[in-house]
Amino acid sequence: MRITAPPADHAAEARTAATRIEAEGVDGVVVGWVDNAGVTRVKAVPVRGLESAARWGVGAAPCFDAFLVDDSLAPSGGPVGDLRLVPDLTALHRLAAQPGWAWAPGDRRTQQGEPHPGCQRQFARRAAGALAAHGLTVRAGIEVEWIVDGGEPGPAYGMRRLIGNSDYLRDLLRALREQRMTVLQLHPEYTEGQYELSVAPEGPVEAADTALLVRHTVQAVSLRHGLRASFAPVTAPDGVGNGGHLHLSLWRDGRNLGHGGTGPHGLTREAEAFLAGVLAELPALLALGAPSVASYLRLVPGRWSGPHRCWGLENREAALRLITGSAPEQANAEIKCFDAAANPYLAVGGVLAAGLAGLDAALRLPPETTGDPGGTAERLPATLGHAVAALRASPVLRAAMGEQLWQAVIDVREAEIARFADRTPEEIVEAVRYRY
Ligand code: GLU
Ligand code: MG
Repeated sequence: MRITAPPADHAAEARTAATRIEAEGVDGVVVGWVDNAGVTRVKAVPVRGLESAARWGVGAAPCFDAFLVDDSLAPSGGPVGDLRLVPDLTALHRLAAQPGWAWAPGDRRTQQGEPHPGCQRQFARRAAGALAAHGLTVRAGIEVEWIVDGGEPGPAYGMRRLIGNSDYLRDLLRALREQRMTVLQLHPEYTEGQYELSVAPEGPVEAADTALLVRHTVQAVSLRHGLRASFAPVTAPDGVGNGGHLHLSLWRDGRNLGHGGTGPHGLTREAEAFLAGVLAELPALLALGAPSVASYLRLVPGRWSGPHRCWGLENREAALRLITGSAPEQANAEIKCFDAAANPYLAVGGVLAAGLAGLDAALRLPPETTGDPGGTAERLPATLGHAVAALRASPVLRAAMGEQLWQAVIDVREAEIARFADRTPEEIVEAVRYRY
């Protein structure tokens, strides 16, 4: 079946991009997308195939919507049909740590050229578009944490760890700079072998793209140094985990609405309503942002993973940490309970939809939690099953995601719950350690 040809300027743009990156030494272009289980899947084309890929897309079976973290399929996955995976050339990057390769995130379309209703990236874009229709934009950034085995031992945040992995970390910064990505900060994190890297805020879909590219770059640089990076929620059942904290701020007419208002800590009424909307949907949002059975080994008190459904200024045990920053444009909120098993497009899209619902209902934030929320504040779902039940019961997310995507996510979550039902925490950790 023919698909609708994209506009001629898109094809011309693809031709120009292909010529440019071929001259820069690129042989292959990876087109990536993230499935509902949070696993990045790819198709690659030779550089001379990029124009055709951008025009017509690359074949990708719809059953990927039913893939689980261990490559088995939820019962909803069938063998029939095809979709077209179309690289987004506005996000094309030459990969500094994989010479000869470039990468672009893909959108999935039907064979007729329509957006695939199960496409997570286009869900995020739709959610951003719904806010834009209200004159609002969001700036977002996702922190990436990872644990390498074989890294230099040493104390949390310790100089010993940075010295011990000095060349590794330098090569990582260099690769990201060559890819024209703006790193804000890099540090040895709490647990052995753990690091964290944060990047500058940008549009929400772009922030999700960047989170993936940072992860791919970390993995490639790690391998070059004989290290293997894990982005799994936990790498030991009772150890500190890897978060995928999502920072965001709401803007109107070039002004950060998290500052200069009459609400708590200077929030404007709009920013307060947006965050209250996120807090209201947080149990359901966990099924998007903490999507693995392993996520709930991380999401326990005392590990700064934000397992409580509350908010507080600079409160690292609250799921929603408010940050006023030292300049007005820096004010933002951090959703701490999410991890890197999340498909970042689902997480971002869900949060924007929840925030918009909060705006529409003019919600107010509950009282602030000022101390350790342990023992007083409500716990977020403590199992994936409870988070999925909340997603099932969320008309807000169901409407925003659309029936097909919403159902596909629920099917995958329920199949993973069944798959891991009789596994020990140790077995769960091993099953997901190198999947994300
Ligand atoms: N590693 C912690 C987590 O699992 C976060 C530590 C921090 O950056 O506050 O979310
Ligand atoms: Mg951290």
